[in-house]
Amino acid sequence: MEKNNSPKTDAVRILIVDDHPSTAATLARALSQLGSAVEVVSATNGAEALEKVKDKGVDILITDMIMPEMTGLELIEKLRDHPGGKPARTYLVTAYDVPGLKVTASRLKVNEVLIKPVRPERIYDIVSRAIEEMKHSTQPNKNATEEKRKFKILVADDRPDNVTLLVRYLEYEGYDHVTAQDGEETLIKAQDDTPDLILLDVDMPKKNGFAVLEEIRANENLKHIPIIILTAARLDSADVQEGLNLGADDYITKPFDRRELMARIRTKLRVKEAEDATRRRNKELSLLPEIGKELSARTDITDIATILLKRTAETLGAFQGHMVMLDSNGTITNNYKITVSNTDAQAQQIDLQESLFNHIRETRQGVIIENTSDNDFWKNVEADPTRSAVVAPLFGRHDLLGLLFLTHEQENYFTLDHILLLQAIASQAAIAIENVRLYQNVTEEQKQIEKIKNEFIATASHDLKNPIMSISGYSTLLTKAGPLNNQQEEFVGRIQNSTKNMLELVQNMLQLTEIDLQKMNGNQSDVDAIELLKEITAEYQMQAQQKEQKLDFQTTLTDAFVHGDVLQLKQTFRNLIGNAIKYTPNGGKILISAKPANGFVEIQVQDTGYGIPAADLPHIFDRFYRVRTGKTIEVEGNGLGLAIVKSIVEQHKGEVQVESKVNEGTIFTIQLPLVSAAVLQSA
Ligand code: ADP
Repeated sequence: MEKNNSPKTDAVRILIVDDHPSTAATLARALSQLGSAVEVVSATNGAEALEKVKDKGVDILITDMIMPEMTGLELIEKLRDHPGGKPARTYLVTAYDVPGLKVTASRLKVNEVLIKPVRPERIYDIVSRAIEEMKHSTQPNKNATEEKRKFKILVADDRPDNVTLLVRYLEYEGYDHVTAQDGEETLIKAQDDTPDLILLDVDMPKKNGFAVLEEIRANENLKHIPIIILTAARLDSADVQEGLNLGADDYITKPFDRRELMARIRTKLRVKEAEDATRRRNKELSLLPEIGKELSARTDITDIATILLKRTAETLGAFQGHMVMLDSNGTITNNYKITVSNTDAQAQQIDLQESLFNHIRETRQGVIIENTSDNDFWKNVEADPTRSAVVAPLFGRHDLLGLLFLTHEQENYFTLDHILLLQAIASQAAIAIENVRLYQNVTEEQKQIEKIKNEFIATASHDLKNPIMSISGYSTLLTKAGPLNNQQEEFVGRIQNSTKNMLELVQNMLQLTEIDLQKMNGNQSDVDAIELLKEITAEYQMQAQQKEQKLDFQTTLTDAFVHGDVLQLKQTFRNLIGNAIKYTPNGGKILISAKPANGFVEIQVQDTGYGIPAADLPHIFDRFYRVRTGKTIEVEGNGLGLAIVKSIVEQHKGEVQVESKVNEGTIFTIQLPLVSAAVLQSA
């Protein structure tokens, strides 16, 4: 895959040093059989070797013991102090097995002392075994890392050569990096760059590593970042302990072994990733009841779609969200879309495949579409950036109500966790959707019934009017057709009274149903309520006088225009004033008044009548409700007058209220929105 001259990320770097050129060459040739797995560097003396690896790590060192100027042991020691780390494996080649050499070698952690002559096959075996061992201890899972996002590592060290080397290692491993040169910069970068891991030097200017560590661990946003402390070899174990006590996850002593450091980094990142996933999952799960509550409060499908798509797309990191609704025949009725993006990308249409619906209906499960350009359930629309998708069904009690889709621009984005969470949310959404549909159906069923009822009453009332009128007419004629005896006259009077009541009832019913059917809304204009009140007051003076009542209208307003229907408004005033006269004994007082109040005209009809018991007050605006106690029982009526008042006032966007005390009197108050009003100038 890679070109030979490019740095080999996973190649094991082998340094061969021998002052005998042909030995180095022979060994190098033997190792070249290992192919691209190794990168061999050879040198003929220590100085040349150090120069060649000054900014490159060495994984395996094979060095001759006796060389001019610098012995193999000296080279091993120098490489141990190399800021970038010591080799993982060291082999010392010597012509003489001198006493004490092996002791020194083992003190210097030499893996093996090889006595010359060393056969190339032997070197080959040793190195391939070493590579194998290193692989097992440190080889990252290549496929896994490739699929995963790049981790970002903060390198905090004040020594530039250390930083350069560490950065190079990190780059080889495919990590992103940021660097900091002192304690304060480390804290700033930790905040700004939110790295996945920090390599932290202890001895740094401005703030030492321990102080930095303490601050990071005390910071709610940063405390979960794994930190590996880089300590100088001379650091004693008390310091190491202090670092670990302060919350370091690991420490590594300089000079460090590249492979070991990388292995530790990988381990910490693996743990962090698992912790991040748990944190994310917890967050996702805590969303479930929250979303459920939010959804169940909605009575509109569009609202539900918006909340559902927004919350799920954000939670799952999706690019776009779609909610497709189906009717009971499985036909698509609505398609709601959102895009989560800072570009102004439009949510794409999805070309919905019948096979997807069939599959979901059969399995009752959602589907992850790993690659949308290669999946029978999906057809990418042209120029659609979607590369993967997850689909969850919205199953009601009986039917598939719809599907919820989330899409992403990356292939293989959605995981099992995603689909499980999405399905859980979708099942809550399905309940909310079904409730909305039921609710809509019920109010729609209800409206229909109400309409049929009103039409029936309207027709019946209308048809009853004629026969009642004819009874009334003939009973009047009866008196003119010839002389009647007293009893006959009394009976005729009763017939006439009853027909009058019947006619009133029928007219009231007709009026109420017409208001409900909104048939009387045709004649809207600006009406002067003051003029109407004067007119109706005058109309009722006669009736009041018959009961020796004082009927008065008082106002400071010269006019008060409201927008509405004259006939309906007149009816309202008639009903209230008529009731006041009816339910007030002879000699009582009825006062009508009007005044402006916050953009409304407030009209009151006040009487000194029988009053209404508190228990009846909440019901007196109900249809056919009449008070059945005290003096009121003796008064004739049908219980529709106030229902009509309430309907009319509400149609005029006003309000009606009542206050009453038994045997003291009653006040009805109406408020109607004012168009304009003029006040009488006081003299
Ligand atoms: P009705 O035809 O019975 O008068 P309404 O709907 O106009 O029907 O009134 C409902 C009931 O409210 C009446 O039966 C009566 O008991 C009570 N009521 C209405 N207006 C007054 C009032 N001004 N004083 C006392 N009671 C009243």
